[in-house]
Amino acid sequence: MNIIFATANLHKVEEAQNIIGGGITLHTPADFGYTKEIPETGETLEENAMLKARIIWDALHQNCFADDTGLEVFALNGSPGVYSARYAGPQADSEANMKRLLTELSSHENRSAQFRCVMALIWEGKEFLFEGVIKGNILPERQGTHGFGYDPLFLPQGYTQSFACMSAHQKNAISHRALALHQLKQFLKTVGP
Ligand code: IMP
Repeated sequence: MNIIFATANLHKVEEAQNIIGGGITLHTPADFGYTKEIPETGETLEENAMLKARIIWDALHQNCFADDTGLEVFALNGSPGVYSARYAGPQADSEANMKRLLTELSSHENRSAQFRCVMALIWEGKEFLFEGVIKGNILPERQGTHGFGYDPLFLPQGYTQSFACMSAHQKNAISHRALALHQLKQFLKTVGP
């Protein structure tokens, strides 16, 4: 089965392909000549993911899915959430985003948080949403050097080390993205050849 992952991020496609395994081949919009930027203008993860999937469906009329992920911190009413990539400003890097998160949380005792990943699928014109959540806590300081984004500050529940201390293989076994992709895969198994 072939399906387009509506992203320009080849690293994401490679990671998703590893998680999804054989039997389903992921393609990028660029494989079909679509190279325009795919905007993220929604106000929720669901809206953003579906907007991106619709852009590719409308342009290519091929089965496709898109994702959007956010770090939701309980004491900050779900922030940074959909704004996770630009928490410290439009051009912010991970370092600046983590710094802001630590500052915002400094006066809070409750440091519980979750990563939530939403996958929006358009299959033969019909729309579906899948979700993966991993709960954890925000550490008081950075730990580890692997991964990206908020990984050094995220301690998954039941573990003693941050995401950034884990290998890609270890993180892929428990991550929000992997959980959402497994849901998507289960669904594709029911509709595919
Ligand atoms: P995206 O929707 O996958 O592009 O994720 C949006 C932002 O959420 C990223 O720029 C990161 O800051 C953060 N993020 C998403 N997934 C992860 C993760 O697995 N670890 C750490 N940060 C993440």
